[in-house]
Amino acid sequence: MPTTTNKEKDYYATLGVKKTASADDIRKAFRKLARKYHPDVNPGDKTAEEKFKALSEANDVLSDPKKRKIYDQLGFYSDNIDPAAAEAYGRGGGFGAGGFGGPGPGAGGARTSTQEVPFDFSGFDFNGYSEGAGAAGRKAGGGGFRDIFSNIFGGGRGEPVHQAEPGDDLEYQVNVGFWQAIKGTVMKLNIPHLEVCGNCHGQGYIESPGVCPECKGKGQITQKSGSMKFNMPCPRCGGSGKNRTVCNVCHGEGRVERTESLEVRIKAGTRDGQRIRIPGRGNAGTMGAPAGDLYIIVRTEDHPVFKREGDDIQITVPITFTEATLGAKVEVPTIDGRALLKIPPGTQPGQKLRLREKGVPSAVKDGARGDEIVEVKLVAPKISDERSKEILRELAKLNPQDPREELWKQV
Ligand SMILES: [Zn+2]
Ligand SMILES: [Zn+2]
Repeated sequence: MPTTTNKEKDYYATLGVKKTASADDIRKAFRKLARKYHPDVNPGDKTAEEKFKALSEANDVLSDPKKRKIYDQLGFYSDNIDPAAAEAYGRGGGFGAGGFGGPGPGAGGARTSTQEVPFDFSGFDFNGYSEGAGAAGRKAGGGGFRDIFSNIFGGGRGEPVHQAEPGDDLEYQVNVGFWQAIKGTVMKLNIPHLEVCGNCHGQGYIESPGVCPECKGKGQITQKSGSMKFNMPCPRCGGSGKNRTVCNVCHGEGRVERTESLEVRIKAGTRDGQRIRIPGRGNAGTMGAPAGDLYIIVRTEDHPVFKREGDDIQITVPITFTEATLGAKVEVPTIDGRALLKIPPGTQPGQKLRLREKGVPSAVKDGARGDEIVEVKLVAPKISDERSKEILRELAKLNPQDPREELWKQV
Protein backbone atom coordinates (compact mmCIF):
# COMPACT_ATOMS: atom_id res chain seq x y z
CA MET A 1 0.00 0.00 0.00
CA PRO A 2 1.71 3.23 -1.08
CA THR A 3 0.68 5.14 1.97
CA THR A 4 3.44 7.71 1.70
CA THR A 5 2.27 8.68 -1.74
CA ASN A 6 -1.27 8.95 -0.44
CA LYS A 7 -0.24 11.32 2.27
CA GLU A 8 1.82 13.48 -0.01
CA LYS A 9 -0.99 13.85 -2.43
CA ASP A 10 -3.72 14.68 0.04
CA TYR A 11 -3.79 18.32 -0.94
CA TYR A 12 -6.49 19.11 1.58
CA ALA A 13 -4.39 17.69 4.40
CA THR A 14 -1.33 19.53 3.08
CA LEU A 15 -3.17 22.82 3.41
CA GLY A 16 -4.94 21.72 6.58
CA VAL A 17 -8.41 22.43 5.21
CA LYS A 18 -11.56 20.37 4.94
CA LYS A 19 -12.68 18.89 1.67
CA THR A 20 -15.58 21.31 1.77
CA ALA A 21 -13.30 24.35 2.14
CA SER A 22 -14.24 27.40 0.11
CA ALA A 23 -11.87 29.04 -2.35
CA ASP A 24 -11.31 31.71 0.25
CA ASP A 25 -10.50 29.16 2.98
CA ILE A 26 -7.95 27.57 0.68
CA ARG A 27 -6.39 30.89 -0.23
CA LYS A 28 -6.11 31.90 3.41
CA ALA A 29 -4.74 28.55 4.56
CA PHE A 30 -2.18 28.62 1.81
CA ARG A 31 -1.08 32.17 2.50
CA LYS A 32 -0.65 31.43 6.16
CA LEU A 33 1.40 28.27 5.63
CA ALA A 34 3.38 29.65 2.71
CA ARG A 35 4.49 32.54 4.84
CA LYS A 36 5.69 30.11 7.48
CA TYR A 37 7.56 27.76 5.18
CA HIS A 38 8.77 30.23 2.63
CA PRO A 39 12.44 29.55 1.87
CA ASP A 40 13.30 33.18 2.45
CA VAL A 41 12.14 32.77 6.00
CA ASN A 42 13.88 29.40 6.39
CA PRO A 43 17.16 29.78 4.52
CA GLY A 44 18.92 26.46 3.97
CA ASP A 45 16.10 24.46 5.54
CA LYS A 46 15.45 21.56 3.15
CA THR A 47 12.35 20.40 5.01
CA ALA A 48 10.77 23.83 4.80
CA GLU A 49 11.61 24.00 1.13
CA GLU A 50 9.99 20.61 0.47
CA LYS A 51 6.99 21.65 2.49
CA PHE A 52 6.72 24.88 0.55
CA LYS A 53 6.84 22.98 -2.72
CA ALA A 54 4.11 20.65 -1.52
CA LEU A 55 2.03 23.64 -0.45
CA SER A 56 2.47 25.31 -3.82
CA GLU A 57 1.43 22.18 -5.61
CA ALA A 58 -1.62 21.67 -3.42
CA ASN A 59 -2.57 25.30 -3.88
CA ASP A 60 -2.04 25.16 -7.62
CA VAL A 61 -4.62 22.39 -7.91
CA LEU A 62 -7.11 23.35 -5.23
CA SER A 63 -7.24 27.04 -6.08
CA ASP A 64 -8.22 26.26 -9.66
CA PRO A 65 -11.87 25.13 -9.78
CA LYS A 66 -11.31 22.95 -12.86
CA LYS A 67 -8.25 21.24 -11.47
CA ARG A 68 -9.88 20.85 -8.10
CA LYS A 69 -12.86 19.13 -9.64
CA ILE A 70 -10.61 16.62 -11.37
CA TYR A 71 -8.65 16.08 -8.20
CA ASP A 72 -11.81 15.55 -6.21
CA GLN A 73 -12.99 12.97 -8.68
CA LEU A 74 -9.76 11.07 -9.21
CA GLY A 75 -7.74 11.74 -6.09
CA PHE A 76 -4.91 13.16 -8.14
CA TYR A 77 -4.39 15.79 -10.77
CA SER A 78 -2.44 16.04 -13.97
CA ASP A 79 -2.71 18.48 -16.86
CA ASN A 80 -2.95 15.45 -19.15
CA ILE A 81 -6.36 14.50 -17.88
CA ASP A 82 -9.29 15.55 -19.95
CA PRO A 83 -11.93 16.86 -17.53
CA ALA A 84 -14.73 15.05 -19.36
CA ALA A 85 -12.88 11.75 -19.15
CA ALA A 86 -12.21 12.36 -15.51
CA GLU A 87 -15.86 12.91 -14.86
CA ALA A 88 -16.80 9.76 -16.70
CA TYR A 89 -14.12 7.88 -14.84
CA GLY A 90 -15.22 9.28 -11.51
CA ARG A 91 -18.70 7.93 -12.15
CA GLY A 92 -17.38 4.57 -13.28
CA GLY A 93 -18.54 1.41 -11.49
CA GLY A 94 -16.78 0.76 -8.21
CA PHE A 95 -14.69 3.90 -8.31
CA GLY A 96 -17.15 6.54 -7.20
CA ALA A 97 -16.15 9.55 -5.22
CA GLY A 98 -16.08 7.62 -1.96
CA GLY A 99 -14.02 4.66 -3.12
CA PHE A 100 -11.54 6.01 -5.55
CA GLY A 101 -11.68 9.74 -5.78
CA GLY A 102 -12.09 10.79 -2.19
CA PRO A 103 -8.90 12.33 -0.90
CA GLY A 104 -10.04 11.88 2.66
CA PRO A 105 -8.04 9.52 4.88
CA GLY A 106 -10.81 6.92 4.84
CA ALA A 107 -10.62 6.57 1.10
CA GLY A 108 -6.85 6.28 1.06
CA GLY A 109 -6.85 2.52 0.79
CA ALA A 110 -8.31 2.33 -2.67
CA ARG A 111 -7.08 5.58 -3.99
CA THR A 112 -3.66 5.72 -5.54
CA SER A 113 -2.44 2.20 -5.79
CA THR A 114 -1.46 1.90 -9.43
CA GLN A 115 -1.72 -1.87 -9.27
CA GLU A 116 -5.33 -1.91 -8.24
CA VAL A 117 -6.93 0.61 -10.52
CA PRO A 118 -7.47 0.12 -14.21
CA PHE A 119 -6.14 3.45 -15.31
CA ASP A 120 -3.37 4.29 -17.68
CA PHE A 121 -0.67 6.04 -15.70
CA SER A 122 1.94 5.83 -18.42
CA GLY A 123 1.45 9.42 -19.52
CA PHE A 124 2.89 10.91 -16.39
CA ASP A 125 4.86 10.14 -13.33
CA PHE A 126 3.89 11.35 -9.92
CA ASN A 127 7.42 12.01 -8.74
CA GLY A 128 8.36 13.61 -11.99
CA TYR A 129 5.33 15.80 -11.75
CA SER A 130 6.00 17.20 -8.36
CA GLU A 131 9.70 17.69 -8.92
CA GLY A 132 9.12 19.03 -12.37
CA ALA A 133 6.67 21.54 -11.08
CA GLY A 134 9.06 22.72 -8.45
CA ALA A 135 11.96 22.97 -10.84
CA ALA A 136 9.88 24.76 -13.42
CA GLY A 137 8.82 27.22 -10.81
CA ARG A 138 12.35 27.87 -9.71
CA LYS A 139 13.63 28.34 -13.21
CA ALA A 140 10.77 30.42 -14.45
CA GLY A 141 11.37 33.65 -12.67
CA GLY A 142 15.12 33.45 -12.52
CA GLY A 143 14.81 34.93 -9.07
CA GLY A 144 14.19 31.93 -6.89
CA PHE A 145 11.31 31.26 -4.61
CA ARG A 146 10.55 34.86 -4.02
CA ASP A 147 9.09 35.00 -7.50
CA ILE A 148 6.90 31.98 -6.97
CA PHE A 149 5.81 33.59 -3.79
CA SER A 150 4.86 36.76 -5.57
CA ASN A 151 3.17 34.74 -8.28
CA ILE A 152 1.04 32.91 -5.79
CA PHE A 153 0.27 35.92 -3.71
CA GLY A 154 -0.12 37.94 -6.81
CA GLY A 155 -3.23 36.07 -7.73
CA GLY A 156 -1.55 35.31 -11.03
CA ARG A 157 -4.60 36.09 -13.11
CA GLY A 158 -4.14 39.75 -13.71
CA GLU A 159 -5.42 40.65 -10.28
CA PRO A 160 -3.66 43.13 -8.08
CA VAL A 161 -0.84 41.81 -5.99
CA HIS A 162 -3.17 41.08 -3.15
CA GLN A 163 -6.61 41.92 -2.03
CA ALA A 164 -7.45 44.63 0.40
CA GLU A 165 -7.98 43.00 3.75
CA PRO A 166 -8.52 44.87 7.00
CA GLY A 167 -5.80 44.33 9.58
CA ASP A 168 -6.36 42.02 12.54
CA ASP A 169 -7.17 43.29 15.99
CA LEU A 170 -4.42 42.59 18.47
CA GLU A 171 -4.67 41.83 22.15
CA TYR A 172 -1.96 42.23 24.74
CA GLN A 173 -2.07 41.70 28.46
CA VAL A 174 -0.32 44.00 30.90
CA ASN A 175 0.20 43.61 34.62
CA VAL A 176 -0.54 46.71 36.59
CA GLY A 177 0.40 47.16 40.24
CA PHE A 178 -2.37 47.43 42.84
CA TRP A 179 -1.72 51.08 43.56
CA GLN A 180 -1.12 52.01 39.93
CA ALA A 181 -4.52 50.60 39.00
CA ILE A 182 -6.18 52.59 41.80
CA LYS A 183 -4.40 55.88 41.31
CA GLY A 184 -3.97 55.62 37.55
CA THR A 185 -0.72 55.67 35.62
CA VAL A 186 0.84 55.91 32.18
CA MET A 187 2.57 52.77 30.93
CA LYS A 188 5.15 52.60 28.18
CA LEU A 189 4.49 49.52 26.11
CA ASN A 190 6.38 48.05 23.19
CA ILE A 191 3.84 46.42 20.95
CA PRO A 192 4.91 44.32 17.96
CA HIS A 193 2.49 44.66 15.07
CA LEU A 194 2.35 44.76 11.28
CA GLU A 195 2.77 48.14 9.68
CA VAL A 196 2.37 49.24 6.09
CA CYS A 197 5.67 48.65 4.28
CA GLY A 198 7.27 52.03 3.67
CA ASN A 199 9.30 50.80 0.72
CA CYS A 200 6.34 49.81 -1.50
CA HIS A 201 3.63 51.73 0.35
CA GLY A 202 1.75 48.53 0.99
CA GLN A 203 1.60 47.41 -2.65
CA GLY A 204 3.97 44.49 -2.20
CA TYR A 205 5.79 45.36 -5.44
CA ILE A 206 7.67 48.18 -7.08
CA GLU A 207 6.50 49.12 -10.56
CA SER A 208 8.88 50.44 -13.21
CA PRO A 209 8.09 51.76 -16.71
CA GLY A 210 7.77 49.25 -19.56
CA VAL A 211 6.46 45.70 -19.65
CA CYS A 212 7.54 42.59 -17.77
CA PRO A 213 10.81 41.38 -19.34
CA GLU A 214 9.99 37.77 -18.52
CA CYS A 215 6.66 37.39 -20.36
CA LYS A 216 7.02 40.47 -22.56
CA GLY A 217 3.79 41.79 -21.16
CA LYS A 218 1.67 38.72 -21.94
CA GLY A 219 1.25 37.77 -18.30
CA GLN A 220 1.73 34.05 -19.05
CA ILE A 221 4.67 31.79 -19.63
CA THR A 222 4.91 28.20 -20.87
CA GLN A 223 7.20 25.72 -19.16
CA LYS A 224 8.09 22.23 -20.25
CA SER A 225 9.11 19.53 -17.85
CA GLY A 226 9.51 16.05 -19.28
CA SER A 227 6.22 15.13 -20.90
CA MET A 228 4.40 17.92 -19.06
CA LYS A 229 3.68 21.33 -20.42
CA PHE A 230 2.68 24.09 -18.06
CA ASN A 231 0.91 27.23 -18.92
CA MET A 232 1.36 29.37 -15.87
CA PRO A 233 0.88 32.94 -14.86
CA CYS A 234 4.16 34.75 -15.16
CA PRO A 235 5.84 34.51 -11.76
CA ARG A 236 7.83 37.64 -12.28
CA CYS A 237 4.93 40.04 -12.79
CA GLY A 238 2.23 38.00 -11.09
CA GLY A 239 0.37 37.72 -14.39
CA SER A 240 -0.08 41.44 -14.78
CA GLY A 241 2.36 41.82 -17.65
CA LYS A 242 3.64 44.98 -15.99
CA ASN A 243 7.22 45.58 -15.05
CA ARG A 244 6.90 44.75 -11.42
CA THR A 245 9.41 43.46 -8.96
CA VAL A 246 8.48 42.10 -5.61
CA CYS A 247 9.31 44.51 -2.82
CA ASN A 248 12.48 43.27 -1.20
CA VAL A 249 11.56 44.72 2.16
CA CYS A 250 8.19 43.05 2.74
CA HIS A 251 8.60 40.25 0.14
CA GLY A 252 5.27 41.05 -1.41
CA GLU A 253 3.27 41.13 1.79
CA GLY A 254 2.86 44.92 1.80
CA ARG A 255 3.34 44.94 5.54
CA VAL A 256 6.32 44.57 7.82
CA GLU A 257 6.56 43.70 11.48
CA ARG A 258 7.61 46.54 13.72
CA THR A 259 7.57 47.15 17.43
CA GLU A 260 5.75 50.31 18.26
CA SER A 261 6.32 52.19 21.49
CA LEU A 262 3.05 53.35 22.94
CA GLU A 263 2.12 55.30 26.01
CA VAL A 264 -1.06 53.85 27.40
CA ARG A 265 -2.99 55.70 30.05
CA ILE A 266 -4.34 53.45 32.80
CA LYS A 267 -7.21 55.39 34.32
CA ALA A 268 -7.57 55.63 38.08
CA GLY A 269 -9.84 52.83 39.25
CA THR A 270 -9.09 50.47 36.36
CA ARG A 271 -10.33 47.02 37.25
CA ASP A 272 -8.77 43.62 36.76
CA GLY A 273 -9.66 42.24 33.33
CA GLN A 274 -10.60 45.64 31.91
CA ARG A 275 -9.95 46.10 28.18
CA ILE A 276 -8.53 49.32 26.85
CA ARG A 277 -9.19 49.84 23.15
CA ILE A 278 -6.66 51.77 21.11
CA PRO A 279 -8.23 52.27 17.69
CA GLY A 280 -6.12 51.65 14.60
CA ARG A 281 -3.08 50.34 16.46
CA GLY A 282 -3.57 46.66 15.62
CA ASN A 283 -2.14 45.17 12.43
CA ALA A 284 -2.15 47.31 9.31
CA GLY A 285 -4.54 46.28 6.56
CA THR A 286 -3.34 45.37 3.08
CA MET A 287 -3.73 47.58 0.01
CA GLY A 288 -4.89 50.53 2.05
CA ALA A 289 -7.57 48.63 4.01
CA PRO A 290 -8.06 49.91 7.56
CA ALA A 291 -5.88 48.72 10.41
CA GLY A 292 -7.25 46.64 13.26
CA ASP A 293 -7.55 47.87 16.82
CA LEU A 294 -5.26 47.18 19.71
CA TYR A 295 -6.73 45.91 22.96
CA ILE A 296 -4.82 46.11 26.20
CA ILE A 297 -6.12 43.72 28.83
CA VAL A 298 -5.28 44.98 32.31
CA ARG A 299 -4.34 42.47 35.00
CA THR A 300 -4.18 44.14 38.39
CA GLU A 301 -1.99 42.80 41.14
CA ASP A 302 -3.28 41.83 44.59
CA HIS A 303 -2.59 43.62 47.87
CA PRO A 304 -1.94 41.71 51.11
CA VAL A 305 -4.59 43.67 53.05
CA PHE A 306 -6.95 45.41 50.66
CA LYS A 307 -9.10 43.25 48.43
CA ARG A 308 -10.88 44.85 45.50
CA GLU A 309 -14.47 43.95 44.73
CA GLY A 310 -15.19 46.19 41.77
CA ASP A 311 -14.90 49.68 43.20
CA ASP A 312 -15.31 48.50 46.80
CA ILE A 313 -12.39 47.64 49.05
CA GLN A 314 -12.74 44.79 51.50
CA ILE A 315 -10.64 44.51 54.61
CA THR A 316 -10.71 42.44 57.80
CA VAL A 317 -9.99 44.34 61.06
CA PRO A 318 -9.47 42.70 64.46
CA ILE A 319 -11.28 44.34 67.46
CA THR A 320 -11.32 43.46 71.12
CA PHE A 321 -14.11 41.90 73.09
CA THR A 322 -14.56 45.16 74.99
CA GLU A 323 -14.68 47.27 71.80
CA ALA A 324 -17.28 44.94 70.34
CA THR A 325 -19.36 44.87 73.51
CA LEU A 326 -19.25 48.50 74.55
CA GLY A 327 -18.76 50.05 71.13
CA ALA A 328 -15.76 52.16 70.17
CA LYS A 329 -14.14 54.34 67.56
CA VAL A 330 -11.14 52.61 66.04
CA GLU A 331 -8.69 53.62 63.36
CA VAL A 332 -8.68 51.39 60.28
CA PRO A 333 -6.52 51.46 57.14
CA THR A 334 -8.08 52.72 53.92
CA ILE A 335 -6.50 53.29 50.51
CA ASP A 336 -6.30 57.00 51.50
CA GLY A 337 -4.60 56.37 54.84
CA ARG A 338 -6.16 56.10 58.30
CA ALA A 339 -9.88 56.56 58.86
CA LEU A 340 -12.03 56.45 61.98
CA LEU A 341 -14.58 53.62 62.12
CA LYS A 342 -17.42 53.57 64.62
CA ILE A 343 -17.99 50.14 66.15
CA PRO A 344 -21.57 50.02 67.48
CA PRO A 345 -22.12 48.44 70.93
CA GLY A 346 -22.93 44.74 70.66
CA THR A 347 -21.05 44.19 67.38
CA GLN A 348 -20.74 40.50 66.57
CA PRO A 349 -17.74 38.75 64.98
CA GLY A 350 -17.91 38.65 61.17
CA GLN A 351 -20.17 41.69 61.08
CA LYS A 352 -19.51 44.01 58.12
CA LEU A 353 -19.33 47.76 58.61
CA ARG A 354 -19.30 50.21 55.77
CA LEU A 355 -17.12 53.27 55.33
CA ARG A 356 -18.91 55.23 52.65
CA GLU A 357 -16.84 56.47 49.71
CA LYS A 358 -13.57 55.18 51.04
CA GLY A 359 -13.24 52.71 48.17
CA VAL A 360 -11.77 53.05 44.70
CA PRO A 361 -12.58 56.04 42.48
CA SER A 362 -14.67 54.82 39.56
CA ALA A 363 -12.91 54.59 36.22
CA VAL A 364 -16.23 54.90 34.42
CA LYS A 365 -18.26 57.42 36.41
CA ASP A 366 -16.53 60.68 37.17
CA GLY A 367 -16.48 61.60 40.83
CA ALA A 368 -18.04 58.32 41.97
CA ARG A 369 -16.26 56.15 44.52
CA GLY A 370 -16.78 52.73 45.99
CA ASP A 371 -17.01 51.99 49.75
CA GLU A 372 -14.65 50.29 52.12
CA ILE A 373 -16.26 47.30 53.77
CA VAL A 374 -14.73 46.36 57.09
CA GLU A 375 -15.31 42.88 58.40
CA VAL A 376 -14.63 42.74 62.15
CA LYS A 377 -12.75 39.88 63.67
CA LEU A 378 -13.14 39.45 67.45
CA VAL A 379 -10.03 38.80 69.47
CA ALA A 380 -10.66 37.05 72.82
CA PRO A 381 -8.87 38.72 75.75
CA LYS A 382 -5.76 36.91 76.99
CA ILE A 383 -6.05 36.97 80.76
CA SER A 384 -3.77 35.48 83.37
CA ASP A 385 -4.19 37.54 86.56
CA GLU A 386 -6.71 36.60 89.26
CA ARG A 387 -8.39 40.01 89.43
CA SER A 388 -9.37 39.97 85.72
CA LYS A 389 -10.63 36.41 86.02
CA GLU A 390 -12.81 37.40 88.97
CA ILE A 391 -14.31 40.29 86.99
CA LEU A 392 -15.13 38.01 84.07
CA ARG A 393 -16.74 35.39 86.33
CA GLU A 394 -18.84 38.14 87.87
CA LEU A 395 -19.76 39.40 84.39
CA ALA A 396 -20.91 35.93 83.38
CA LYS A 397 -23.01 35.65 86.54
CA LEU A 398 -24.65 39.02 85.84
CA ASN A 399 -25.38 38.07 82.23
CA PRO A 400 -26.44 34.44 82.15
CA GLN A 401 -26.35 33.50 78.50
CA ASP A 402 -26.41 30.27 76.53
CA PRO A 403 -24.96 31.04 73.05
CA ARG A 404 -25.66 27.44 71.94
CA GLU A 405 -29.38 27.57 72.67
CA GLU A 406 -30.32 28.26 69.04
CA LEU A 407 -27.96 25.61 67.83
CA TRP A 408 -29.58 22.88 69.95
CA LYS A 409 -33.02 23.90 68.74
CA GLN A 410 -32.00 23.23 65.19
CA VAL A 411 -30.38 19.82 65.68
ZN1 LIG B 1 5.48 38.75 -16.65
ZN1 LIG C 1 7.11 46.38 0.67
